[in-house]
Amino acid sequence: MKSTVNNPCFVCGSASSQLLFGREYSAHYYPGTFAIRKCDKCGLLFNSPRLSDEELFNLYDTNYYFFQRHDVDEFQRITDVFLRTMSFIQNGVIEKSVAEIGSAKGYLLALLKHLGWSVQGIEISSDASEYAISKFGVPTFTGTIKDYSKSNHKDMFSVVLAIDVIEHVPNPIDFLHSVDKILRNTGLLIIDTPNGSAHNIKLLGSNWKGFNPFHIYFFSSHILQALLINMGYSIENSFSYGNRPKYHLTYAEECKKVFNSLLPRLGVLEQSKLVYRGVTNVTKYRKKDVESLIRNASEIIRKNSTYLDTDDARDELAKEIRGDNIVIIARKTA
Ligand SMILES: [Zn+2]
Repeated sequence: MKSTVNNPCFVCGSASSQLLFGREYSAHYYPGTFAIRKCDKCGLLFNSPRLSDEELFNLYDTNYYFFQRHDVDEFQRITDVFLRTMSFIQNGVIEKSVAEIGSAKGYLLALLKHLGWSVQGIEISSDASEYAISKFGVPTFTGTIKDYSKSNHKDMFSVVLAIDVIEHVPNPIDFLHSVDKILRNTGLLIIDTPNGSAHNIKLLGSNWKGFNPFHIYFFSSHILQALLINMGYSIENSFSYGNRPKYHLTYAEECKKVFNSLLPRLGVLEQSKLVYRGVTNVTKYRKKDVESLIRNASEIIRKNSTYLDTDDARDELAKEIRGDNIVIIARKTA
């Protein structure tokens, strides 16, 4: 049985919206149709009706994709994450202390620790936070940012990172208030999230990669900026990435797509995944230990300056912030 909640738009309060897309996610055990609506007044995209908080939690528990990824792949990914977030602010902070909300298995914080930052992870999955602690020595609190801000931890941070997080949060205003409690005055908040104004939504409809059953809100840059300005932040930087109007899949991505679409039809997806993981573990993971992965990542970011120097930042959709994802760097002023 699916129980749902159907709230008015939390940004502008309007109860009037249009259905844009409906899509099935039976492979994720999502019940019924996942619906994306657009607010008539402010244009926010959101999932409604949506699962109750409890059902959402169960959905993560059953099949959250994020923690299935490999260390090697994740260390490659975080060099890009670093270039579009931390690389902008390295010289603009007084003290190198950073908290990451949704720190997952601790990859980015492991790199930042290596670069001399004092780090704190905040992560709802206990499996992931234990991994971060044992594998990388990254201190990680298990729970939400709300739990953390109410706990006995008295640390305040110069930088708070929320990468691929705010789109998952049922109450973004509560979330931002909790963030505010752990961010120092003049500190920086960096949000990275799928772009509700992405050009590719028009092109790909419900097949756009930002839509999945775990995402509730799809912000455009101006909506998120307005929320932050209201809370006493000034916007230092905002841009989009994934700025190519169409997808150009690499050969590896094409193979993966075929693999993922063919095998479920043959009824052997789970077995095949285990084999696939076993193979990639042997061929990729054993070659490099964690220390060398971190060293490699820090070499890559040392060679590059910021995201704005990459080809993607010069691509067509960058100018109007219409790429697949947005980044906002905001400074706390109040
Ligand atoms: Zn609205």
